[in-house]
Amino acid sequence: MTITSFHHLGLIKELTRALDENNYKTPTPIQISAIPALLEERDFLGIAQTGTGKTAAFALPILQQLFTTPYTRTPCTTRALVLAPTRELAIQIADNCEIYAKYLSLRQATIYGGVKQKAQIQIMSGGVDLLIATPGRLLDLIQQGRIDLGSVTHLIFDEADRMLDMGFIKDIRKIMATIPKERQTLLFSATMPSSITQLANSLLSNPKRIDVTPEVVTVRKIKQSLYKVSKKNKRALLATLLKNEDISKAIIFSRTKHGANRIVKELEHAEISTAAIHGNKSQTARQKALDAFKNGEIRTLVATDIAARGIDVDNITHVINYDLPAEPESYVHRIGRTARAGTSGAAISFCDETEGKLLKLIERIIKFQIPLLKTPNLPKLEPLVKETQARKVEVKKKATNSFQKNKLKKQRTRLGKNRK
Ligand code: AMP
Repeated sequence: MTITSFHHLGLIKELTRALDENNYKTPTPIQISAIPALLEERDFLGIAQTGTGKTAAFALPILQQLFTTPYTRTPCTTRALVLAPTRELAIQIADNCEIYAKYLSLRQATIYGGVKQKAQIQIMSGGVDLLIATPGRLLDLIQQGRIDLGSVTHLIFDEADRMLDMGFIKDIRKIMATIPKERQTLLFSATMPSSITQLANSLLSNPKRIDVTPEVVTVRKIKQSLYKVSKKNKRALLATLLKNEDISKAIIFSRTKHGANRIVKELEHAEISTAAIHGNKSQTARQKALDAFKNGEIRTLVATDIAARGIDVDNITHVINYDLPAEPESYVHRIGRTARAGTSGAAISFCDETEGKLLKLIERIIKFQIPLLKTPNLPKLEPLVKETQARKVEVKKKATNSFQKNKLKKQRTRLGKNRK
């Protein structure tokens, strides 16, 4: 049976009603895999990041189990515990659970540091069914005798890799020592370093496992490399690399529209055929640039992430990340433009003095350290100045194809208008 709706996953009507109201029509892959297994009380290991629907994947079946198992709440206890690395994530999970549990008579609490304890102690004093907490404050309240985890039957670790990165392992061990061994345990992590494998092995019993990061597998086929280069030297590095004619069809990514325009100027100055596509260009201009790139009239296309979404061009030999993307997931989308349909491809990234953090996030997502190449000796380039008339004539002579001739014609018209 193909599962196309939440009604096929064994969820009770109180939950499907809340989902319908919130326009959740089709379950995501992790939800299809997790919900039936979790309703059977199996342990679960999910390799998934935010955006995959992982919260509903664990929250729905756990809420259902809590609702359908008769229980009398006792002070300071909870039956289900979700551990999350940050206050923001804890709040996000709590908000989602509140939506899903609209028609269930359950009590939930959220606990995190950086705020006064009083309200948190107060809500826990009556006992809850579901507690969402960050490890530090939770341990603090356990040690004060304000929370007792002796009734926990369901334990969920969300973003486990981030919790370990943030140094919570000791707190987690201490918390674990207060939780009964007889329980259902779920662990979600965006990446699977050996520390997480070890943690999963020690906590989970015969878990169902699902990995919902398929694009990363394809990305492995792409030859990736990295240059550490100062912001001011990126231009010279790009011009130097493009001397290599093997880079015959390259898409160059810029984080901003303004940056994309600048790269185009830099490339034109270096006499490399190019055009930009970004949100400030008209649809016609974008299409023209794309067609010229597709049919080989121009060698490079400069794009922003949003403008490049959905672009499908065959035989792109190289993706060049002039800037690293602000969203690490975009790295995977960007470099996936090359090595299509079994062809080989390469991705070259520039990382300047301000982009170290972005690089770390990317490497976490792709579970791989991008090989660092030695930056070649870079020439000193003339500053980018407004083109002189003499230079325009020179470039015109070199513009051998119709796309560039048209582009020059437009520039001339603009120039003429400005003079008037
Ligand atoms: P998550 O990966 O759990 O952070 O979820 C990402 C976003 O997708 C959240 O805003 C959820 O409310 C939403 N969401 C999760 N599952 C579904 C679904 N099956 N249909 C529609 N929205 C969903």
